[in-house]
Amino acid sequence: MSSIPEHLKQVNQRIREAAEAWGRDCDDIQLLAVSKTRTADEIAEALKAGQHLFGESYLQEALEKITALRGANAQWHYIGRVQSNKTRAIAENFDWVHSVDKAKQARRLNEQRPQNMPPLNVCLQIKVDEEESKGGLTAKEAEALIEEFSGFTRLRLRGLMTLPAPAEDFEGQRRPFCELRRLRDRLATDEIPLETLSMGMSADIEAAIAEGATIVRAGTAIFGPRNPVISRN
Ligand SMILES: *Cc1c(COP(=O)(O)O)cnc(C)c1O
Repeated sequence: MSSIPEHLKQVNQRIREAAEAWGRDCDDIQLLAVSKTRTADEIAEALKAGQHLFGESYLQEALEKITALRGANAQWHYIGRVQSNKTRAIAENFDWVHSVDKAKQARRLNEQRPQNMPPLNVCLQIKVDEEESKGGLTAKEAEALIEEFSGFTRLRLRGLMTLPAPAEDFEGQRRPFCELRRLRDRLATDEIPLETLSMGMSADIEAAIAEGATIVRAGTAIFGPRNPVISRN
């Protein structure tokens, strides 16, 4: 028997316990099952066990799975790098994008989101540590880009996302999440409350919840060690 339903139960239990420990309402925290490199059958199993939000990083394999599972009650979140040649497929196939970190890509997504679909939900990816290899906006860049969103009628800016370097200890895990929350508090307005904080992965869900995560993104905790990438584009 597959362990996916069992693992989902365990992760949801972790979320409930962390919410309780930190005085949060667990209904304010959603689990995004990161299904990159997993098959459509594995996703179907998770769906059957009650999981509905799925995160994908590699566009080509994602599109195949979205097509295969059309009609299932799945919500698709793109969490990979957003290159210009991918914006159209993202705009046409996903419900959310967590990883927008360039104004140009935001403009393209806005232009390319089909009129017959609801606005595309967007989080801005923020670089909270000094890891040069990773994408993400600085606080200053994020502030400037948020101002442009009033002109993006096909996008709905929901909040901020971060993908910090792994840290071993709880306090080290909390630090970047704390920074993201503070940035959100500083940039939020009545018009754009930035209510979403997409932060925390399998190893640091609890630290993210302690700092206010509203979407935690877990892959290996649900599906086990990652398969080799099916197609990385
Ligand atoms: C792969 C990935 C995750 C999930 O990581 P796990 O350690 O498997 O939980 C979360 N967020 C992003 C952006 C990812 O690329």
